[in-house]
Amino acid sequence: MNTLPDNPYVLLTPGPLSTSKGVKAVMLRDWCTWDDDYNGIVQQIRARLVELAGGGDYTAVLMQGSGTFSVEATVGTVVPADGKLLVVANGHYGDRIAKIAERLRMNHALLDLGEVGRAEPAAVGEALDADPAITHVAVVHCETTTGMLNPVREIGAEVKRRGLTYIIDAMSSFGGIPMNLDELGCDYLVSSANKCIQGVPGFGFVVARRAELEKCEGNARSLSLDLYHQWHEMEHKNGKWRYTSPTHVVRAFAQALGELEEEGGVEARFRRYTDNHRTLVDGMRKLGFSCLLPDEWQSPVITSFMNPDHPEYDFRRFYGELKSRGWVIYPGKVTSADTFRIGNIGDVTPQGMGELIHAVGESMYWNHKE
Ligand SMILES: *Cc1c(COP(=O)(O)O)cnc(C)c1O
Repeated sequence: MNTLPDNPYVLLTPGPLSTSKGVKAVMLRDWCTWDDDYNGIVQQIRARLVELAGGGDYTAVLMQGSGTFSVEATVGTVVPADGKLLVVANGHYGDRIAKIAERLRMNHALLDLGEVGRAEPAAVGEALDADPAITHVAVVHCETTTGMLNPVREIGAEVKRRGLTYIIDAMSSFGGIPMNLDELGCDYLVSSANKCIQGVPGFGFVVARRAELEKCEGNARSLSLDLYHQWHEMEHKNGKWRYTSPTHVVRAFAQALGELEEEGGVEARFRRYTDNHRTLVDGMRKLGFSCLLPDEWQSPVITSFMNPDHPEYDFRRFYGELKSRGWVIYPGKVTSADTFRIGNIGDVTPQGMGELIHAVGESMYWNHKE
């Protein structure tokens, strides 16, 4: 393992994000995909994902591609031809779900709460009462655009009170924030390998209420993104993927799940991320930066900071200064405010975040007097 090169920088961009040496090391071999060695790993991963989601009558499907492929596979498979999807959006990733529905020519409605608007459960309830054709509701848990954490439990109560199907994009929170799908009323949770589980990019996954997914045969609008068929194959052929599976990525993910357990599970990871986030925000505030969102809406995953209002400040130069010191941050994604973002998930600790703050102080070239 110590023959691996060190990374030239730490990624604070979820995702991809910084992974451990252990996760990278297990990718240094090849796997055949037709026997039990490899497919056994897939089955263990599927079982572990269901446990992380709180157990109960759920099942897991892995799907090739980045996280969006799994969102598209879910939406395109679970909403039947005569169904209607309500997308609750307050950011780019919510909008992307609506874009998927539009591209699939699916009957849908968009509840657009604005980029920095809160996804109020009462507003969701009103939208559902106003349109009895709606059968499915989709919302993003941690809206990575801003770092906002949406009240998925309260929204779930509105959805379930009306007996509808509930889809959560928990891409950037699953594995890093404790959650129990049954308690959330969630029927389908979508996430991917390269976020809080701290694997490398290459596949996404869906934890689905088994009885719901079993009803979805023949719904899919796509062959390769047929979530039902992919699940059916994995379920009935002992972990087999339909088409070439990302073997190295899968093996790395199994290692990442083991490391999550060693860390103490999702609760322990949530505490580390929360400590990372506190160290980050307290340090940035001391340096004069301010946050886009009020603290009570903020996730412990990624934070949007306002760009300094200084004539000599330029994000690209600031970014370059930080990168040369070993830290890669993220540009902003909201259009209504001038921001940049820093993620604090991945193989980083509060001590590392302290070092980042020191590097930010050194990189504030616009404050350095001659
Ligand atoms: C990362 C992310 C996605 C998926 O993005 P990909 O680039 O396709 O991996 C979807 N939703 C949210 C909230 C995300 O953070």
